[in-house]
Amino acid sequence: MSKFQNRSVVLARRPVGEVRDEDFRIETTAVRELRPGEFLIKVLWFSLDPYMRPKMNDVESYMPPMELGKVVQGESIGRIVASRSERFAVGEIVTSYTGWQQYAISSDQAALLHKVDPAGLPLSVFLGPAGMPGRTGYLGLTRVGDPKPGETVVVSAASGAVGSVVGQVAKRIGCRAVGIAGGAAKCRYAVDELGLDACVDYKAGKLAADLAAACPDGIDVYFENVGGAVSRAVAPLLNPGARVPICGYISRYNAKDIVSAESPFEIFGALPTPPEHRFFLVVEWEAEHAETTRQLADWIRSGELKYRESVAEGLDAAVPAFRGMLRGENFGKQLVKLADD
Ligand code: NAP
Repeated sequence: MSKFQNRSVVLARRPVGEVRDEDFRIETTAVRELRPGEFLIKVLWFSLDPYMRPKMNDVESYMPPMELGKVVQGESIGRIVASRSERFAVGEIVTSYTGWQQYAISSDQAALLHKVDPAGLPLSVFLGPAGMPGRTGYLGLTRVGDPKPGETVVVSAASGAVGSVVGQVAKRIGCRAVGIAGGAAKCRYAVDELGLDACVDYKAGKLAADLAAACPDGIDVYFENVGGAVSRAVAPLLNPGARVPICGYISRYNAKDIVSAESPFEIFGALPTPPEHRFFLVVEWEAEHAETTRQLADWIRSGELKYRESVAEGLDAAVPAFRGMLRGENFGKQLVKLADD
């Protein structure tokens, strides 16, 4: 065994509805010795992402379910602290899918493993606006939404990790950008800080009327993050030729049976003239990972791309923070910090 002790959050049973503390347990184990080609990552930050919740169910979708008794899966950023690899050296920073734990062994052959050159940026941004959520927002909007200058782009979960990038990129392209978010503070942030033209609070009780008022020329692109009542309010405002990149539908992720829960495909597919709509995954553009990350990081460095984070401290804070994110308690990218950069 090596000198390293690991603490990890393990999926103890399948959650039903909202996750509970008892669905998880913390395990402490010794880290084994490295084999040739392997290296050890000390996790500094890990990401809490909405997709993790459906992955905790025993349901096969575009990704296999998480396994019971195994570390909860997810992306992190960390520093290499021991190495028997020719390609990955001690001291280098990497993003990878280590899951919710302090240390993880990886290898030259691991998928979705990337070296990071922070060049002055805080490491956490490579899990947020310059990371998977940022690339999702940028690539999903530009490749599937294909917005043109002057068009109206609406994005839900507008203050969040993906949505905040979508709104700001829509503005860069010259669109009218309208956010939908939960609560006055998130809406104020979307307009005052992110620079959106308007933001509608879906919790204020008159979503359909407020959204119609914010979109006097209808909606050309709707970037779908939430589903449910929000999608139903968007649907009648879509213009002929509208595009709907379906990124996710978080309002259904705690559903007892997500497979039979109403999805945006049913809402948009049922319209007399359905918009162009399709689900996409950010990994469709994995070949553009480096270039897109560089672009987003440059915009953050120059102050052109704004972001906000909710940080939970320590492994024990992960489960409550995850539960909170699925209730909308986060404000910006939800992260767990394990150690200083
Ligand atoms: P996020 O927006 O930072 O956080 C989640 C937000 O969702 C909450 O803050 C909350 O914002 C909103 N929300 C929660 N419950 C809701 C409900 N019942 N109705 C409406 N809104 C609700 O999360 P994110 O990481 O950026 O993810 C946003 C979406 O992108 C998710 O659907 C996720 O699955 C998807 N995604 C897809 C891909 C892909 O490759 N397709 C990649 C990354 C993320 P409010 O307080 O504003 O409601």
